[in-house]
Amino acid sequence: MSDAGEADRVVIIGGGLAGLATAAALADEGVDVELFEARRRLGGRASSWHDAASGASIDFCQHVGMACCTNFADFCRRTGVADRFRRADVLHFFGPDGRRCDFRATRGLPAPLHLLPSFARLGYLSLGERARIGAALRQLARLPAEQDDATIGDWLRAHGQSSRAVKLFWAPVLVSALGEAVDKASLKYARKVFVDGFLRNAQSYQVDVPTAPLHELFDGVVAAQLRRRGATLQTGLPIRALRRSESSAAWELDLGDDVVRTASQVVVALAWRRAAELLAPLRYEWPAISSWSSISGAPISGVHLWFDRPLTDLPHAVLVGTLAQWLFRRDSDTAAAAGGEHYYQVVVSASYDLEALDRDVAIARIVAELKQAFPPAAEARLLRHRVVTEREAVFSARPGIDALRPPQTTPLEGLFLAGDWTATGWPGTMESAVRSGYLAAEGVLTKLGRPRKLIVDDLPLAKLSQRLFRL
Ligand SMILES: Cc1cc2nc3c(=O)[nH]c(=O)nc-3n(C[C@H](O)[C@H](O)[C@H](O)COP(=O)(O)OP(=O)(O)OC[C@H]3O[C@@H](n4cnc5c(N)ncnc54)[C@H](O)[C@@H]3O)c2cc1C
Repeated sequence: MSDAGEADRVVIIGGGLAGLATAAALADEGVDVELFEARRRLGGRASSWHDAASGASIDFCQHVGMACCTNFADFCRRTGVADRFRRADVLHFFGPDGRRCDFRATRGLPAPLHLLPSFARLGYLSLGERARIGAALRQLARLPAEQDDATIGDWLRAHGQSSRAVKLFWAPVLVSALGEAVDKASLKYARKVFVDGFLRNAQSYQVDVPTAPLHELFDGVVAAQLRRRGATLQTGLPIRALRRSESSAAWELDLGDDVVRTASQVVVALAWRRAAELLAPLRYEWPAISSWSSISGAPISGVHLWFDRPLTDLPHAVLVGTLAQWLFRRDSDTAAAAGGEHYYQVVVSASYDLEALDRDVAIARIVAELKQAFPPAAEARLLRHRVVTEREAVFSARPGIDALRPPQTTPLEGLFLAGDWTATGWPGTMESAVRSGYLAAEGVLTKLGRPRKLIVDDLPLAKLSQRLFRL
């Protein structure tokens, strides 16, 4: 059964952030949009589960944005969820000895000097380490933005960084931003993290933390907003195959049970492996499709912990040099405290070490690390825990990865791609997913004869940074 009458509709396959951003941008331009999502909930990798014990919605893994994520911020404004984030302008670092160092911009100091006083106070690094880190940072920022011939780990070693400096300074920043280990991550993307996230603008390092579960944001508020703007959102409906129509220039989408949807423009907004599978029959026309399955993924784990008492009043903590990397206390989830439970989440990016450990050993180690950082919680008792690991949480941003990332406008007529892994110049993040969606929507609008710029500019580049680093 085919519905050729709907051929003018733009169909989006995949309801993660890339698909939702495409839908939001096109619906705002008055385009007739229909989105298909295989799961019953929208949001893709940025989603939550219902915890029966506490009755709360818990994110599979805490997600945060940074102020430099201008397109993600634009998407949140467009879709009515911008007020569901709290901006943290102080980052609470804890050294391996439990020493707390708050990282904040100094008022009145322009970028890139704004964080210098905080950096100078990172007491768990020696004076010599801090001086060598400062020199390497300057060299890193001055590299050509496209230089991608080494891992950041190799580059740091070649530029005088000790393994202690890598463990206590470089890795805590890079591993959480790139989702990959320093010995695998590319120099190019590591440079981007420091330039865009810390040196470019005095606000860019600030972190945006959701105040509500992700499914409430993306499956709730965003979905309702999209529907109000006329988008059709179909959940629980995987697209099983995609092929060209034999009778027209349109695409046919196979929904199973002999149901076929026809569309002249299709945006495939899937993660790389799913996209490679769905588009495999088209690989003879576009050989690049075959290369996507060689993209590696990197794991991220959310370690969910319920204690019998509070550990800390801080909303977050960055734990340095330990298995635990970030700790989050979620106000929205403290409803669980009513049942005598206090919920915290520890995020471990590039969680190869965690996955290699026996689960009980890993949990015991993380709990010990938290108690070291928060001595008043020494008596806290862990009531229950759950570890959620996404093995391919993000694509692994290794040297040379950009050669495998396809553009959003493909050589196949009427076929567009979106997804955090497509060519956005960003690592696998919500910002990259939204950028890819906006770029795919730009491609569709151009095809419809009304080109429009949807990508939002980066934060302004501070003059001093421009001069010092030749940016
Ligand atoms: C554990 C973890 C922690 C993370 N932390 C952060 C963070 O703190 N900050 C940050 O910026 N980013 C973070 N990320 C990355 C971020 O979640 C992703 O970059 C982003 O969500 C990717 O969105 P996407 O739309 O490109 O892909 P996806 O979210 O994978 O969306 C693809 C969608 O397609 C659907 N689908 C698959 N097959 C079909 C089919 N045949 N038909 C229809 N639909 C289909 C899937 O169900 C899915 O919903 C994290 C990711 C993980 C997993």
